[in-house]
Amino acid sequence: MPISDGFAQRLLPILDDIVAAYDTPFHIYDARGIAHTYRGMVEAFAGVPMRQYFAVKALPNPAVLSLLLAEGSGLDCASPVELELAHRVGAAGDDVVFTSNNTSLAEYEQALKAGALITFDDRAFFERVHSLPETVAFRVSPHGLAAGSALMGDAAHTKFGVPAGELVDVYREARRRGATRFGVHGMICANELNVDRAVQAAVDVVELGARVAAAADIELDYVNIGGGLGIPYRPEDEPFDFPAYADAVTQARRRSFPGSGPRILMECGRYVTGPHGILVTRVINRSRKAREIVGLDASMSALMRPGFYGAYHHLSLPFVSGRPEVRVDVVGALCENMDKFAVDRPMPDPAVGDLALIHDTGAHGHAMGFTYNGRLRPAELLLTDDGDVVEIRRAENFDDYLATARWQPQPVLSRGGSTPTQEARGPK
Ligand SMILES: *Cc1c(COP(=O)(O)O)cnc(C)c1O
Repeated sequence: MPISDGFAQRLLPILDDIVAAYDTPFHIYDARGIAHTYRGMVEAFAGVPMRQYFAVKALPNPAVLSLLLAEGSGLDCASPVELELAHRVGAAGDDVVFTSNNTSLAEYEQALKAGALITFDDRAFFERVHSLPETVAFRVSPHGLAAGSALMGDAAHTKFGVPAGELVDVYREARRRGATRFGVHGMICANELNVDRAVQAAVDVVELGARVAAAADIELDYVNIGGGLGIPYRPEDEPFDFPAYADAVTQARRRSFPGSGPRILMECGRYVTGPHGILVTRVINRSRKAREIVGLDASMSALMRPGFYGAYHHLSLPFVSGRPEVRVDVVGALCENMDKFAVDRPMPDPAVGDLALIHDTGAHGHAMGFTYNGRLRPAELLLTDDGDVVEIRRAENFDDYLATARWQPQPVLSRGGSTPTQEARGPK
């Protein structure tokens, strides 16, 4: 849906100056909006020991991660590169949760060394590792209420987690192996906007955690209810009622753990930054084929969600008024017909030169970008709390595109005594 009033009021008056100084396309994020959303989450859990760990994959930019860390957020990592990034921005020890799946022993060791809170996704893997972290947590497979999630898979098709029926056994085993602190993780939602469903999913994990802890005779240090909360991409969507959600989780925690009770951890990405970013583009072509076509100077490589999942992203022409409405396909330049930001979208008739804003690109936007067709990833800018605009990632260029290519092929395996003699095709 359209960006927040606060972002619009601070950005739109200076947008012309920004694009005069800086080429489109670029993503721009609202530091104030991100901090505001983060603080709102913490306040909604006031009185409950809770920590939100930002899912790094949603927006892996050092400036944004640093901003969130400074606010008190932790970071949720799922790969060695994300662990290294968290380390470089100053996250240490239990500032980091490591919630990977199909994990390698090497990356497990890296997370262990970093002192991260590690979630085991898999029982067989847990049995293979030699040393355990101080706190052992397992991710529970989607089950029960979670059955309907396309992204997570239902109980019969998921690749995630330990089946609920095996949890008591694995915690007992962890205790036998010397573990003394325990957590449980369950993430069932994906872009969930319905508070009742999100509450049911979280409460399910809290209650299951309590039953399993009692049966395995362990005490839970934390219950991690994951991420997956939705944002209103469509103008008619209602924003997620986070205070109601936090209240219901708080009550479930009290009911299930009448004593002191475990901490609540969350791993939201999209909910924290998603609405606070836009992709600023310009219309570079306008044509009529079987359909009305509007060509932008950005491609799916800068924002994959619409082309990949058919996801809706709101689109607006901020400085256009008084034009008749038309229905258009808004496209990028990849040699792929799916490279469309919108299909059959009503909007005031776009013209070459118009600025076009694609909304809600603050999470899983630039991060899912790619470089196919040599359409390289655009820059990321940040509108700071003071109202300054800073570059937090430049646009990629030709050297980046070929940074990993060997102009001079490197020997990997020589057979028959022949030495690689291929000529260099260029510098490097
Ligand atoms: C992707 C993911 C998240 C974050 O998801 P959002 O939809 O961005 O909130 C959190 N935890 C895990 C394990 C994930 O895979």
